[in-house]
Amino acid sequence: MSYDDDNIFARILRGEIPCDKVYESDHALAFRDIAPKAPTHVLVIPRGPYENLHDFAERGSDAELADWVRAMAAVARAEGVTEDGYRATVNNGRHGNQEVPHVHAHIVGGRQLGGAPRG
Ligand code: AMP
Repeated sequence: MSYDDDNIFARILRGEIPCDKVYESDHALAFRDIAPKAPTHVLVIPRGPYENLHDFAERGSDAELADWVRAMAAVARAEGVTEDGYRATVNNGRHGNQEVPHVHAHIVGGRQLGGAPRG
C-alpha cells in the first residue's frame, strides 16, 4: 500500500488548498465537508500520511490515534450536536465508497439521520 501524497486532503494539510477549519490539535485537523449532507458535516483527519482506517490502526502511534478520536468528540461538542446525537463514519476502500485516500471521519448531525448501516 502506498500513500498518495497528492490526494486532496494531503494538499489541504500542506496549505496548498484552503479549507473551512473548525478544529485542530497536534495530530488532527477538522474542516467542513465541501458538499455537506446535513447541517453539521465535518471531516476529521490525522495529520500523518495514512490511507485508510486499517493503515492508520497498524502504523499510527497511540498518541495519533487517541488524538483523532478526541478530535471527533471535540468537533461534535463544538458543533452542538453531542446532546441530540450524530454519526461518525469512516468509509474504507472501494466497497466502502472511499473517495479520498487519506483516512477521515465524517461527523454528521444537526438533523434526524436515517437508520444505519445502509448498503
Ligand atoms: P469519502 O467518500 O468518505 O472519501 O468522502 C470524501 C468527502 O470529502 C466527501 O464528502 C467530499 O464532499 C469531501 N471533500 C472532497 N474535497 C473536499 C475539499 N476540498 N474540502 C472539503 N471536503 C471535501
